[in-house]
Amino acid sequence: MTKTILFNLSDAELEKFITDMGQPKFRAKQIREWLNRGVPDFAQMKNIPEKLRLQLAENAKTLPVEIIKKLESADGETTKFLLGLGDGEQIECVLMRTTYGNSVCVSSQAGCAMGCKFCASTLLGLKRNLTANEIFAQILVAQWELRTDKFADKPIRPNGDANNGDVSHIVIMGTGEPLQNTENVIDFIERANSQMGIGWRRITLSTCGIVPGIDRLIEWGRPINLAISLHAPTDELRSQIMPINNRYKLNEVLDAAWRFTDNHNRQLMIEYILLGKRDENGETVLFNATPEYAEKLSNLLQGKNCMVNLIPWNAVDERDFAAPSGNAVHRFQDILIKNGIHTRIRRERGTDIGSACGQLRLNNAKR
Ligand code: SAH
Repeated sequence: MTKTILFNLSDAELEKFITDMGQPKFRAKQIREWLNRGVPDFAQMKNIPEKLRLQLAENAKTLPVEIIKKLESADGETTKFLLGLGDGEQIECVLMRTTYGNSVCVSSQAGCAMGCKFCASTLLGLKRNLTANEIFAQILVAQWELRTDKFADKPIRPNGDANNGDVSHIVIMGTGEPLQNTENVIDFIERANSQMGIGWRRITLSTCGIVPGIDRLIEWGRPINLAISLHAPTDELRSQIMPINNRYKLNEVLDAAWRFTDNHNRQLMIEYILLGKRDENGETVLFNATPEYAEKLSNLLQGKNCMVNLIPWNAVDERDFAAPSGNAVHRFQDILIKNGIHTRIRRERGTDIGSACGQLRLNNAKR
């Protein structure tokens, strides 16, 4: 018998489920409060009698995601979750405790169809879109962790305004292409905003560049942050590593992105992974990270309201790239700075726990 997932029920359905068990209505309300806090199992519902908790555990589950594995990085700030879905699919989400608040990176799909050549998430293809509930439940898992983990009593961080044990920021940068699951993602963001009070400007959606999806975000009209995974400043180079570029060319993608940010007077985030390749002698040669490409990228973005996030590549065994040296990364950044382009090097978090895109899920599937 498949168990009913209580979080997926409407209030009326939950009430019926509970009263059908011979229980008073108010229990449904109590259970809903626990669900909204992200309780992982019935045993922790303290104000519910034990007999009912056991009965519920037999017939039902709390959330549409279950924690299969929880990994804590040695940095003490990053926790990664491998989550199981009702149909056996697995996804990842990452909680990052930062000086500005608590940020959660969520997945929008089980797997990915985009086929980017440097990425682990897409190696096993797309399994399916996540429902809005499945995306939302990732935030709840993180929220429960923040309320109950060993850091819960830490004082408010020096520059932070939001480390009160709540999730304050969301990045839709986990596994999957959110603009291939646009309506569920929009539904999820609306609920994160209305139910958890997370402001539009604290939510960032990252896309490899699906133009009709960006237009849908413009029509939707909420002033969230948009990030474009650019990774190359020419169509010729981009098409070699991102198959989506054969569908939507670089300039079309950027035009759509500027339309979005101009509408909201927002800065566009540009993501640029720095990639090297190994030559026949095993030496690393730069791929998209040469000084020439830094100049080309500068020309492309000249005078635009954007921030370039340089991302040192996180090694994926199956992928035929190499991370460039720290020197090469700084040389690339210096050229952007000289050209007046806002840029920063993204601090990698949790590399010791395989926090880079899709690694945990992939490793588990391989085993
Ligand atoms: N599909 C969306 C969101 C998921 S990927 C997108 O493409 O933006 C989130 C970011 O991680 C993207 O910029 C992606 O290109 C990058 N990424 C993928 N694999 C990576 C790796 N091995 N190391 C560093 N960044 C990676």
